[in-house]
Amino acid sequence: MSPTSASTTRTRSWTSGSGWHAREVPPADLPGASTTAGTVVVVEDDPHISDLVGLYLRREGFRVLSATDGTAGLEVIGREAPRLVVLDIGLPGLVDGFEVCRRLRAGGPIPVLMLTARDGEIDRVLGLELGADDYVTKPFSPRELVARVKAILRRVDGPAPTRPAVVAVGDVEIDTGRREVRVGTGLVGLTAREFDLLAYLAEHQGLVLSRQQLLDGVWGLGWFGDERTVDVHVRQLRRKLGTDLPLTTVWGVGYRLG
Ligand code: CA
Repeated sequence: MSPTSASTTRTRSWTSGSGWHAREVPPADLPGASTTAGTVVVVEDDPHISDLVGLYLRREGFRVLSATDGTAGLEVIGREAPRLVVLDIGLPGLVDGFEVCRRLRAGGPIPVLMLTARDGEIDRVLGLELGADDYVTKPFSPRELVARVKAILRRVDGPAPTRPAVVAVGDVEIDTGRREVRVGTGLVGLTAREFDLLAYLAEHQGLVLSRQQLLDGVWGLGWFGDERTVDVHVRQLRRKLGTDLPLTTVWGVGYRLG
């Protein structure tokens, strides 16, 4: 390959011939940016989405490689062993996002954030069948995607050594040291379980947690009971904290705080 064609490949934002491209923007092109956060592979055939996601991740210090179909994605992932994969479900060719995720799961624990176009795909994405770590539904804000990527990596890397004792979510302050919850200057009385549920949700801020995940995390793996227990406690939290608490019900999946 001549230097000219190599250069062309590096700077072209979209290829339809080879089906994939690997682009690395040198740090010099992005003032203040460094690539110390590790490698992320973005598998997405829509060049606008891929470029936008790449731009925002690079700003956060990630080295970003892109692939535009599933086969190329698996090749890049296999070669680069990235920290995380951002994976579109609807990809051209025989290997769609579901299949890429399935093969990644068989090969090892690389975290996957899926891009879905329809709410109906969410169950499959998060279910045991695929076990993606998280998803965002199109259209999404790039900032939200970056927040999800960081949350997944935080979770994968384990708890931070110095977790803050006070976590703020919306107008609600959760003091995990004193086990107190404040809105403004007023204390809100919660039961122990309500507090544990709120603290767990706050610890996973921005992530959708299923009722089963909440049961496992808050009630413990040995607890045997109905998932509606979670709904009951969520109702209590909403009753006590009202609209100050940015807690969203994600239909068919579970709950998200923040
Ligand atoms: Ca697509």
